[in-house]
Amino acid sequence: MSTRTDVNSLGEFGLIEHLTRTFKNRQPSTVLGVGDDAAIIETGGDEQLVVSTDMLVEGIHFDFAYTPLKHLGYKAVAVNVSDICAMNARPQQITISLAISNRFSVEALDEFYAGVYAACENYGVDLVGGDTTSSNKGLYISVTAIGRAPAGRITRRSGAKVGDLICITGHLGSAYLGLQLLEREKQVYLANPDMQPEMKPENKDLYAAILRPEARTDMVDLFAKNGIVPTSMIDISDGLASEIMHICKASGVGAIIEEGNVPIKQEAQLQALEFNLDPITCALSGGEDYELLFTIDPKDVDKVRFLPDLYISGEIVAKEDGVKLHTVGGNIHDVKAQGWNHFNG
Ligand SMILES: [Mg+2]
Repeated sequence: MSTRTDVNSLGEFGLIEHLTRTFKNRQPSTVLGVGDDAAIIETGGDEQLVVSTDMLVEGIHFDFAYTPLKHLGYKAVAVNVSDICAMNARPQQITISLAISNRFSVEALDEFYAGVYAACENYGVDLVGGDTTSSNKGLYISVTAIGRAPAGRITRRSGAKVGDLICITGHLGSAYLGLQLLEREKQVYLANPDMQPEMKPENKDLYAAILRPEARTDMVDLFAKNGIVPTSMIDISDGLASEIMHICKASGVGAIIEEGNVPIKQEAQLQALEFNLDPITCALSGGEDYELLFTIDPKDVDKVRFLPDLYISGEIVAKEDGVKLHTVGGNIHDVKAQGWNHFNG
């Protein structure tokens, strides 16, 4: 009898593991295959290549009720460049493939590509190929990013050691709260199309975080300049909880996060409270901040302590100690990975 297993039952990462379980790498040049932010490929020179790919689907990852096409083009590049940054590599090339319904005009696609162009310019990457085809419904965007770094600088998820410090760049939770604001405004508009959405200027960083995120190529440069090679790294696309779990699983360690040291912008804190949400929950379980989560050897602490936009937020502990949050109230909670599950979204 044939069985039918629902895709949702495995979750995104379970599904990837399931589908790739029988694949063995045949090429000696494949240094690292599926399972990190990017694959690592030997070039024969001093540097290795890193390659990553990501797909954005209308109605799942973006909603045209509030997503300007130019921002979407920028974001499609930025989120892929972010995975290259997560390997501590410099992005160099991208390819972009689109499936487009006849709802989109050439002018609309020009807008999208203006955003792609701005991102390529900002990150110094070249658009070197792709494919364009039609879809029955909606827009599908697939971007592949290629980067490069000296082999000794490439950072995987799997190198965190007990005693390493856990660091976070930028601020978390802003993108999630920006999305909640946009969703709320969309509902107001749908209920009454004559109402103008209320975009408060003090929330502009929250809107920018979800609509036009930046990849942290600046941090990759900062690490190089200051002689820092993180012991492990991942970009925060699905929320801090999910990402620290990935590092802990890949590295065979546990972690303790200090709630008080998780960077959350004041406007995000205020907006969270207005939505009756706990700000730390937005940082842990919200997503799409595209900041970097990494660990460093404690001997490097003086190299990172005074770097801008970088926060020491916890410590790697033994695997048996689990993954915990030490709250500002002094309690210890288990961290559970409840990232955005786009299969349910
Ligand atoms: Mg990633």
